Amino acid sequence: MTNKAGFFNLSINKVLSDDQSILDQARIRLLYYGLVLVFFAIAALLSNLYYQDQPILTIMASALLIASAMFFKLLTFKPRWKFISHGLLVLATIVNLGDVYLIFQTVNIITVQMVILVIIFSFYMLGQAYGLFYSIINLGVVLVFLTLQYNHPYVIDLKPEQVDQSTIIIAIFANFLLLMYIHGHFSNAFYKNIKQLKRTSDERGDLNIKLENAIEKAEKSSQAKSEFLATMSHEVRTPLNAVIGMSNLLLMSSPRNDQKENLEILKFSASNLLAIVNDVLDFNKIESGRVVFENTSFNLVELMQNVCGAQKIKAKEKALTFSLDIDSALNEKVLFGDPTRISQIVFNLVSNAIKFTKQGNIWIKVACVEDRHNTITVNFSVKDTGIGIAPDNLDTIFEPFAQESITSTRQYGGTGLGLAIVKRLLELQGLKMDVHSKIDQGSEFSFTMEFPVSTETHALEAEAEPAIKAKNSLSSLRVLIAEDNMVNVMLMKKLFSKWNMTPTIAENGESAIQMMQYGNFDIILMDLQMPVLNGFDAAMEIRKMPDTKKANIPIIALTASALFDIRERVFNSGMNDYVSKPFKPEDLLQKIQNLVMLA
Ligand code: ADP
Repeated sequence: MTNKAGFFNLSINKVLSDDQSILDQARIRLLYYGLVLVFFAIAALLSNLYYQDQPILTIMASALLIASAMFFKLLTFKPRWKFISHGLLVLATIVNLGDVYLIFQTVNIITVQMVILVIIFSFYMLGQAYGLFYSIINLGVVLVFLTLQYNHPYVIDLKPEQVDQSTIIIAIFANFLLLMYIHGHFSNAFYKNIKQLKRTSDERGDLNIKLENAIEKAEKSSQAKSEFLATMSHEVRTPLNAVIGMSNLLLMSSPRNDQKENLEILKFSASNLLAIVNDVLDFNKIESGRVVFENTSFNLVELMQNVCGAQKIKAKEKALTFSLDIDSALNEKVLFGDPTRISQIVFNLVSNAIKFTKQGNIWIKVACVEDRHNTITVNFSVKDTGIGIAPDNLDTIFEPFAQESITSTRQYGGTGLGLAIVKRLLELQGLKMDVHSKIDQGSEFSFTMEFPVSTETHALEAEAEPAIKAKNSLSSLRVLIAEDNMVNVMLMKKLFSKWNMTPTIAENGESAIQMMQYGNFDIILMDLQMPVLNGFDAAMEIRKMPDTKKANIPIIALTASALFDIRERVFNSGMNDYVSKPFKPEDLLQKIQNLVMLA
């Protein structure tokens, strides 16, 4: 409560504080002014009684005067209003008892006033339970006396005191004043309280409306931001794909050595830019909570070898020793999980390790920590002998767009999104990344993941025949390409001409369906984002065709989307496989070949 008031304080303001409710403040105020009123009323009575020579009443009035002064002092020192109220009610009950049975030996108007005072005061000050308690006691006092008097005249061995009219007038007047004051004061406090409640609830209502509006606005702007990023990224990706595709084509057409070098730089820069755009798009997607993890079967050894294949070449280019150590216990195991996201995490870590290491080694270790029959716990660790990270920066490097220092950006490039994506992807699966690093000595990033294990075992795939060898047998293949972008169409035509194939082009999903109805094809390459009818819907329509041969034609989706969950959508709409633009020409050829051979 308050400790502002010293012992000699007499001011009410020092005992009121904001942590008291409006009602409690009203109670303290009531006691404060009520006690002053009582004090002066009793003082007036006392002087009157003193001259009338009424000893018991004089003593009682003096005692009451002292008690009211003491309670007043207590209140202005410490506002213990409950204690003071009980004290006053006990005193009032004693006075009532004394009045009725001893002093006056009758029930007069002052007694009735006193009972009413006790009832009102006890209910207002102490609530219903104590209100009832004190009211019943005081009513009981009167009722018992009246009953006694009704049966026999009430006589005790003490002469009742007779006060003169002036004392009675003062008492009646003071009691009425008190009654009016208590009631007036309290009804006022009640109304104030109700008004305040209404005001607070109105304010809260206004605040809620403001909050709802703000949330709606924030959601809209975040959605607009996501949509803008997605659209922009798509717009940027399309020409970039063309640049990469063209560089691929030019590289395939035996350029001179100096041209080859320029083309490699062109391809490298475009690929880098594309990786950045993909990162931004992917991070945006993760942040807006739209990531759904797949649960497909895969073999971890194969996955790791695929992820590290290209990285190994990069490491070699920098003369770094690259070692991939995978627990042999994982060789034949078929696990369930999201291979795409695991690849993304490992890829980011290994790319960083290579990027930030000038000389020495890169170790990638995949160890089986615990093998229970149906689940397996695997620890992934990527270690390097690179520049290391200062202890103070170990947390910040996981923040989006954060790099250890500005020199990092200049020297090594990058967006600072890689680790942020990795961290979020792990967090979304309830996992955590561990980092140990020493400046100039190297870093180690590791995390542990649990996978359900399938009962089937994985047969290690035999080396696939190089696709290029079979290209001559593909020349008679009738390929339908559904693609709306003219640059991509040109690119595809050129690419296919290198393989001695002449594809037929449909400029959207609908014309692809029409061409399928009237023509005969062996395979469809289906762009996903097309006007009129998109690739997903077109594929679903083709799968519903009455001619079973046409309905079962192999379809490969061509996706410009960097999003990692496209795979499921592609398969759900009945397509057999997909390649992400920009694709490596050999990859596309390999996929075409696989599907055509199966068909
Ligand atoms: P980027 O690599 O695009 O800069 P990341 O989010 O992948 O972004 O990494 C953030 C920063 O963390 C890097 O800029 C670099 O300073 C630091 N970092 C990450 N991996 C390593 C590593 N293996 N060795 C040293 N520093 C690293």
